[in-house]
Amino acid sequence: MGCCCKKKCYSSAELMHMEHTYGAHNYHPLEVVISKAEGVWVWDPEGKKYLDCLSAYSAVNQGHRHPKIIKALKDQADVLTLTSRAFFNDKWPVFAKKLAEYTGKDMVLPMNTGAEAVETALKMTRRWGYEKKGIPADKAEIIVMKENFHGRTTTIVSFSTDPDARINYGPFTPGFKVVEYNDLKAVEAAITPNTAGILLEPIQGEAGVFVPFDGYLKGIREICDKHNVLFVCDEVQTGFCRTGKKFAFMHEGIVPDVIIMGKALGGGVMPVSAVAANKDIMGVFTPGTHGSTFGGNPLACAVATAALDVLTEEKLDEKAEELGKYFRERLVKMKSPKVDIVRGKGLLNAVVLKKEAGKARIYTTALKEKGVLAKETHEWIIRFAPPLTVTKEELDWALDIIAEVLK
Ligand SMILES: *Cc1c(COP(=O)(O)O)cnc(C)c1O
Repeated sequence: MGCCCKKKCYSSAELMHMEHTYGAHNYHPLEVVISKAEGVWVWDPEGKKYLDCLSAYSAVNQGHRHPKIIKALKDQADVLTLTSRAFFNDKWPVFAKKLAEYTGKDMVLPMNTGAEAVETALKMTRRWGYEKKGIPADKAEIIVMKENFHGRTTTIVSFSTDPDARINYGPFTPGFKVVEYNDLKAVEAAITPNTAGILLEPIQGEAGVFVPFDGYLKGIREICDKHNVLFVCDEVQTGFCRTGKKFAFMHEGIVPDVIIMGKALGGGVMPVSAVAANKDIMGVFTPGTHGSTFGGNPLACAVATAALDVLTEEKLDEKAEELGKYFRERLVKMKSPKVDIVRGKGLLNAVVLKKEAGKARIYTTALKEKGVLAKETHEWIIRFAPPLTVTKEELDWALDIIAEVLK
């Protein structure tokens, strides 16, 4: 079982070797090959079963191959897949309305990957700065945070503080000011009359699920209001119920001006991303000033519409909130001598290892051997983010293994 191809079955070892030979080495994957998946479970070609505790970096919040999403994919594939935006299609308007309602914003702009949605938000923020705020030409500044992760384009890595993400990719795009995350005074001090926006993650996922202090987002909102600056919130990883709310900013009862979305918007099936904002901001885009050949394609829109329905119908926000609390409680109760702290919100969690515990890869490898797939972020942090469709029993099964590995 688990064989992926009709002509020849490759073993995991053969596939890893083949990838190493022919695929660029821009990742360092855990040594497991996945050839089949359903819900929270995945299988390798040899038939070994694992519980997925990464969810493709939160792109599979609805679980692998959710029947409703796969049905939408198949049904749409039989009718219409791509038109480009040169013509209208009958799926993008329906998806746009649904996503606008889901975000509480007037309008949305569709792209494909998270990085493209971030680029869209940056272009929108700059345009808004010039056309609405009156910033002099080419002077717009956007404030961003240390340890940020917003994607891999040349502009985005221009304001990354991760040396690996930047090295030898210069010259970089100017116009960004990097300040300390979780520090309102640093943001306030960086504001100038030319500040157009503040871009941040409500929880820094790639930085190791770093949760800012309660009140931080509220403080950012106040600074933005005071100085007429856009609050641009990157919810690519934290959005769509992952942290126990539809969006992570909702934990503080505030509303950002611009919401960037991706990952789980595609229901674990297709790359679908979007930016949401009200008319006064989105209106800076006019025909020809921004676009994407595949953005808003009917196949992606049908899939994303179903992906949103699943989140709502299965109340995955409430589930993530409840199971997340339970997950952290049990992790803390393990009193593992290896663990420094446990942190997170909803089902986006991390275990920060003590220095003396050694590298996180040792533990993610041991977890994999026992059937739990998690990935380290940095060398001392393990992220746990199972699909939100996980049951308490499945979570307990994983927790028993985590306890064994961390004891
Ligand atoms: C993954 C991620 C992105 C980039 O998304 P891609 O689809 O990989 O381009 C942007 N921002 C955050 C917070 C992310 O986690």
